[in-house]
Amino acid sequence: MTQAIGQTHAIGENAGQSDCPLCGRKTSECRPCVPGRVKCACGMVFRPAADLRVSESQFWDSGDYADPAWVERVYGGRREQANRELVEAVTRLVRGGRWLDVGCGPGYLIRAARKAGWQASGIDLSRRAVALAQDAGLDAVCGDFPSQAPEGSYDVISLIHALEYVSHPKLIVRECRNRLRRGGLLVVQSKNFSFWSRAERFFRSGSGIWCPQDIRSYSPTTMTRLLRISGFETITIKPARLTNHPVLTGCLACLSTLGGPLLSPSMTAIARAEAAKGEAQ
Ligand SMILES: [Zn+2]
Repeated sequence: MTQAIGQTHAIGENAGQSDCPLCGRKTSECRPCVPGRVKCACGMVFRPAADLRVSESQFWDSGDYADPAWVERVYGGRREQANRELVEAVTRLVRGGRWLDVGCGPGYLIRAARKAGWQASGIDLSRRAVALAQDAGLDAVCGDFPSQAPEGSYDVISLIHALEYVSHPKLIVRECRNRLRRGGLLVVQSKNFSFWSRAERFFRSGSGIWCPQDIRSYSPTTMTRLLRISGFETITIKPARLTNHPVLTGCLACLSTLGGPLLSPSMTAIARAEAAKGEAQ
């Protein structure tokens, strides 16, 4: 997870209140969704009163985020396999070079990319997670993206479960666009709120406990739109492979292929930076 947030809170935001981060429509014109969240007519789901703790290093230093033992317990060897497969999918589209993982955590994806020959580095707001990455000999810095990210351009930038916690995702994705070389790839993994809102209805929980920390929630449609208006052409958007319910996710993914909506808890989008710069709205 990144916390590419600190700087962006200072841009156009008023005491944590925000309008639709995708189209800018007033929150008052959006309808209630699950508790604490509203849904805009454009499809975007968001918390109008963002929990600003997610922009703080301490938030990510505590809890499970920077705890490899927890990750191992939940995901086991599937994490490495999923990262390896993701790197392979990207390498089929771009042949090596510089890879920046924004919100790198303890460096799982950096390690997988390096093994495949990439010059991979990362940035994360969590001091604890970055210390773990550095202790493992990985190239990671602690700080905000983009303000504290190393200068330079990249062939690939990844945002793995990061955009759910970013107040202004368009700013972040456009900054990724600016830092990618021509034809470079953006890899975005996020929860799929189409799945989670169905789960909420199915269990009639009415609790809003699903994805509790997320301040921005995406569907395949809104993710595709976010990428498009930020200067990217979406190449693929698929169920994410990493899950703590592999059998359930596999079944849902099979159903999706029969023509239904993308029904998986998380999704992975790979998008290519469009040739012309400066045309995004
Ligand atoms: Zn909207």
